[in-house]
Amino acid sequence: MSDVVLSKKCCKCSRHLPLSEYHLKRESPDGHQTKCQSCVRQYRAEYYQKNQERLRQYSLDFYKQNADDVKAYQKEYAQRFPDRIRERNKQWLLTVDRNAFLEQKRQWHRANRDRMSQLQKAYRAVHPEYARISCHKRKARLKQAAGTCSRTQFLAKIEYHGWRCYLCNTSLTIKELHMDHRTPIARGGSNWPANLAPACGPCNLSKGRKTESEYRTTLSACFSSSTPSNR
Ligand SMILES: [Zn+2]
Ligand SMILES: [Zn+2]
Repeated sequence: MSDVVLSKKCCKCSRHLPLSEYHLKRESPDGHQTKCQSCVRQYRAEYYQKNQERLRQYSLDFYKQNADDVKAYQKEYAQRFPDRIRERNKQWLLTVDRNAFLEQKRQWHRANRDRMSQLQKAYRAVHPEYARISCHKRKARLKQAAGTCSRTQFLAKIEYHGWRCYLCNTSLTIKELHMDHRTPIARGGSNWPANLAPACGPCNLSKGRKTESEYRTTLSACFSSSTPSNR
C-alpha cells in the first residue's frame, strides 16, 4: 500500500486542500472526488441557474406522473419527522412575503374559479347548514372586528398549544391548522390573540357560531352518551 494521502490538488481551482475538503467517491483511488467541495457547490449552483426552467419543468412533470407516490412519500416523511416539518413551517411563516403569498392565492382562485364554485355547490348540497353563511359576509365581519394578530403572535399561539388543536388535542400541521375564534366574530369576538387558538378543521367547523364554553358543553354531552373517538 502507498502512503495515506492527506491532501491533494483540486482539478478545478488548483488549490492544495486536505481530503476533508472533498466529497467522498468510493470508486476513486483515494476515495474522494477530484473537485473540492466549494468547486462542486459552485458548479451545482451554476448548473441550476442555467437549467432552472428545465429543472422546474422536470420536477413538475415528475410530480404529475407520480402524484400518488409523491403524496404518500410526503405523508410518511411528515409522520417520521414532525419536528423538521414544524421547523420548516415556522421558517416559512416568519419569512413568507404576505402580499406575494396572497397574490399567488388570488391568482390560483382566479384560474380555478369554475372548479371551486362547483366544489362549493356540491359541498353546500351535502352541508346545507353552511350554505347560509356566505364567505363574503364572513370575511367582511372578520375585517370589521376589533384587534389584530401579528405573524409572531400567531406563531407563539401555535407553539403555546404545542401544535395541537386546543379543543380535541389532535396534533396539527400548518396545512390542517385553523385559527379558531374562542368567541366567534359573529358573537362579538375580536381578532386579538387572546381570542384566537389553533384548532383542527373538524373542531373549527363543528364549533361554528358557538363560543368555546358552549362548544365544550356540547362536546361533553356528546361524549357522555357515546364513546369518544381518537380525533
Ligand atoms: Zn476547487
Ligand atoms: Zn380538534
